[in-house]
Amino acid sequence: MAAPIPTKQKAWVYREYGNSAADILKLDTDIAVPEIKEDQVLIKVVAAALNPIDFKRFAGWFKATDSPLPTVPGYDVAGVVVKVGNQVRKFKVGDEVYGNINEDPVNHPKQFGSVAEYTAVEEKLLAFKPENLNFAEASSLPLAIETAYGGLEKVGFLGGKSILVLGGAGGVGTLAIQVAKNVFGASRIAATASTGKLDLLKSLGVDLPIDYTKEKYEHLPEKFDVVFDTVGEVERAVKAVKGGGSVVAIAGPLNPSPPAFFFGESSDGAMLEKLKPYLESGKVKPILDPKGPFPFSQAKDAFVHLQTNRAIGKVVVYPI
Ligand code: NDP
Repeated sequence: MAAPIPTKQKAWVYREYGNSAADILKLDTDIAVPEIKEDQVLIKVVAAALNPIDFKRFAGWFKATDSPLPTVPGYDVAGVVVKVGNQVRKFKVGDEVYGNINEDPVNHPKQFGSVAEYTAVEEKLLAFKPENLNFAEASSLPLAIETAYGGLEKVGFLGGKSILVLGGAGGVGTLAIQVAKNVFGASRIAATASTGKLDLLKSLGVDLPIDYTKEKYEHLPEKFDVVFDTVGEVERAVKAVKGGGSVVAIAGPLNPSPPAFFFGESSDGAMLEKLKPYLESGKVKPILDPKGPFPFSQAKDAFVHLQTNRAIGKVVVYPI
C-alpha cells in the first residue's frame, strides 16, 4: 500500500521578492499539498534542480506575469507519481518521472514549485525517468536540456557544422556541448570557461577550450557556424560567427539584431522522451555540481551557490 498523501507538506518558500536567497527563502512545514487538475499528476519529489530563472523570479524580474506570492521555487523535478488526474493517460501511480514543471517559464509559472515534498504537473511536461539515471541526475536535466536541444533545433543546427558555446561549464553549456556533438553531430566544438574548468570542457568533447580570462574568442581567426551564448555577450558573439551563421542567445537582450536571436525554452515531455536514447546510452551525461547534491534542509545554500554564477553543471537538491 502506498503511503497516504498528507494535506500539508514541507516546502521552501518566499513571501516577498528580494535579491538574495539567503534573505528571503524559508523552510515552511505547513504548506498545502497542491490539488491536481484533470491533466496533472501529483509527484512525491525525490530531487529538484535549480536554475537561474528561480533567482531572477524571486528578484521580481517577472512580477507583471508571475503567479501570486507566497511562492515555492523550483522548475526541475524527478520523483514518483502518487496521484493522477482523470484525464491522465500516460502515467500511473508508482511511475518514476522527471520534467520541467512550467511550460512557460515566465507567464504564470506555478506558485508551488519543485523544492517541496510534493508538486503537481501536467502529464505532457513529464517523461519516464531514464533507467540508468538516479533521481538526482534526472532532475538536473529538463530545463537545461530543453534549452540546449530546443535552441539548436530552432537555429537548424546540423551534423557537420561547427559551434562555439559561451559558458561551457554551466548548467546549459555542459548540455549544449554534449547535445551539439552527440545528438546533432557537430564537426567541431569550441567553448569558453575560466582556467580551472578547461579540463571539464575537454572531457565533454570540446575540441577547442577557450580560457576567457586570457583570450578573446571574437579575435580568433576561426569563425563558427553557430555561437550558443549562455552568458549574455551577444555583441561579441556575433563577431565569432561565419557569414550565414547565427547566434542563439539565451541570456541578455530579448531582441538582438540578426544574425543573433533570443531563444526562450518551453517545457516538453515529448522532447525528453526523444532524447532518452542519448541519455540511456550515456552519449549525453548529466553533470552535477561537485558542491552538491544539497540535502533538502540545505536548499537555501544550494540557491546561494547558484547565485554566485560559478556553478559547474547543475545544482541539485537531494534527497527531498
Ligand atoms: P549557470 O549558473 O549554470 O552558469 C554558471 C557557469 O557560467 C559557471 O560555470 C561559469 O563558469 C560560467 N560563466 C559565467 N560567466 C562566464 C563568462 N563570462 N564566460 C564563460 N563562462 C561564464 O547558468 P545556466 O547555464 O543554467 O544559465 C545561463 C544563463 O542562461 C542564465 O542567465 C539563465 O537565466 C539563462 N537561461 C535562459 C534560458 C532561456 O530559455 N532563455 C533557459 C536556461 C537558462 P566560470 O566560473 O568559468 O566563469
